Amino acid sequence: MARRYDVVREGFMVKRSQNKKRYTPVNFKQRFFQLTTKALTYYDNDIFEKRKEKGRINLETVHTVEVALETTFAEENTITIHYPFLVGYEECGQDYTLYLNAHSELERLEWIKCLRNVCASNKLKDKYHQGVWTGKRWACCKESSRNSIGCVNCISRTFVSSHIADESDHNKENFNQGAQSSPIMPGGGATPGTPSAKLKEKSMIRPKVVVALYNYKAIETGDLSLEKNAEYEVIDDSQEHWWKVRDNHGNTGFIPSNYVKEKELIGLQQYEWYVHDMSRQRSESLLKHEDKEGCFVVRNSSTKGLYTLSLYTKVPHPHVKHYHIKQNSRAEFYLSEKHCCSSIPDLINYHKHNSGGLASRLKTSPCDRPAPATAGLSHDKWEIDPHELMLHDELGSGQFGVVRRGKWRGSIDVAVKMMKEGTMSEDDFIEEAKVMTKLQHTNLVQLYGVCSKNRPIFIVTEYMRHGSLLNYLRKHEQSLSSNQGLLLDMCIQICKGMAYLERHNYIHRDLAARNCLVGSENIVKVADFGLARYVLDDQYTSSGGTKFPIKWAPPEVLNYTRFSSKSDIWAYGVLMWEVFTCGKMPYGRLKNTEVVERVQKGIILEKPKGCYKEVFDIMRKCWSPSPEQRPSFRNLKDQLVNVSQGILVD
Ligand code: AMP
Repeated sequence: MARRYDVVREGFMVKRSQNKKRYTPVNFKQRFFQLTTKALTYYDNDIFEKRKEKGRINLETVHTVEVALETTFAEENTITIHYPFLVGYEECGQDYTLYLNAHSELERLEWIKCLRNVCASNKLKDKYHQGVWTGKRWACCKESSRNSIGCVNCISRTFVSSHIADESDHNKENFNQGAQSSPIMPGGGATPGTPSAKLKEKSMIRPKVVVALYNYKAIETGDLSLEKNAEYEVIDDSQEHWWKVRDNHGNTGFIPSNYVKEKELIGLQQYEWYVHDMSRQRSESLLKHEDKEGCFVVRNSSTKGLYTLSLYTKVPHPHVKHYHIKQNSRAEFYLSEKHCCSSIPDLINYHKHNSGGLASRLKTSPCDRPAPATAGLSHDKWEIDPHELMLHDELGSGQFGVVRRGKWRGSIDVAVKMMKEGTMSEDDFIEEAKVMTKLQHTNLVQLYGVCSKNRPIFIVTEYMRHGSLLNYLRKHEQSLSSNQGLLLDMCIQICKGMAYLERHNYIHRDLAARNCLVGSENIVKVADFGLARYVLDDQYTSSGGTKFPIKWAPPEVLNYTRFSSKSDIWAYGVLMWEVFTCGKMPYGRLKNTEVVERVQKGIILEKPKGCYKEVFDIMRKCWSPSPEQRPSFRNLKDQLVNVSQGILVD
């Protein structure tokens, strides 16, 4: 079994039997697939301990990953196999093809994308057969030689993003599915990025079309408004966060790239009821907050590739029920076996009219869900004119001064940190702010920009309605302490944000519950990353100072002020402890000197009351004395998700 953190993608798919002698009737079996960077392996069961490996393809042998033709088998009661794709590989000098069937178009595209990514350095073939070999001829071109090279040009990825492993929800990779043009193969033909490759790409690629997931109001000249569900043609996607697009009236302008999704990859995202990877706990809070009978959402299950329906009902008392959306051997979706549909939207539609065994008929889904923050308030904008800010009430005050709620140009909610003069090296920070506006992740508080022309300087960020996580934990201790699932979910969210920073080689230096914020729908985000570097106050920056966060610091920071992502990991362990104690002060009333003594002796914090042993074991890993022995955030995130799957129900 692969180690969890090696797994690139996993989930169920329907596999066509590879019986080499008999070609009809064809057997299709549901298998659990696991893709790592080394192999694609399939099992007969998804239950971890009971998994029995049924087969494996060494990825070095793969030469083709392409969409296949749908096949209808009249012999078998006219079964049509949907969303097929194929993986061609070579073993002992012989070619084999594995035919797989995903459960949706989106899933098929994502499996193909992942497989192509892990095989990016392979020598790939130019041509392939889209249809199956029937025993006498190829179903696609009717060619009767089994060894013929193929009738269709392979289609390859055209833009390889640098952050394949980025889970920040907006997938920037695209490939030209369905185009019948000459191939631009990774590892073969023109090297992507070279002028000749670019020319080829330009002349052969159909324009990329995206669909707006949210409305967006252009405020700055040069930007373009988006209308939810409308289509736009992408003119320039060379910048990560702002793309130039054309609407169907011919108007062009910049739009935030996280507000759109490629048309071919949009899948369920066009539906109001689909909430992507919202956790069970957050979906429960969201539905309970709406408090409407029959209110529902569909979310990704914690088992990759599967979906869960979460439904609110008041009968016999207000609660949320969770149902796995299952599939039968014909790849049809169902909640109750009697009512199967060929797609999830059809299934939802069916249950909107018939409860069909559910606690209630599906009625509404939460509306007016907040749109995500944009990376800066407009493209290439990080300097903000203070006259465009309307300042409202005070949200709190911290190390750097007062924070106030505000509105930019009367439309976007912001938080404005008014920096006390003399507290930070301003010029260096202003330079850094340009980079920081480009860091964008669902679990990081977005920096919109700065007002740097006047004093005091203002730091303008995304507004988070519930304020600091520390206060939130303390305020809601009663309800939260009995909901370990919600506490674990908060830790997972923070870990995702930190894993993004780690991937971008960005060190936080002051990670603690006081520096995380809570927004609507119980979203938790990390704030103030990297700010500690620009503080001028010795009491804060030197490990002997009274304001230095000693209780969150590992031995190497206490001894040599050596910060790294691994010192952030130590602080993250302490932050987990804060979460599971609902905001207690680590080490209670111990003085800083006493804390340092304890930490040097390896005596760290005790297990919070009611905290699962598995969760505390993870905290302890964060407190390994040697930084090298501590896990990475990426690894930690997988461990936390595993624990949550093990101790909580999906
Ligand atoms: P800080 O200076 O970052 O420690 O912020 C002081 C307090 O202001 C925090 O404890 C929060 O209650 C509040 N605050 C800071 N940033 C935000 C924000 N982006 N949204 C809402 N409240 C905030």
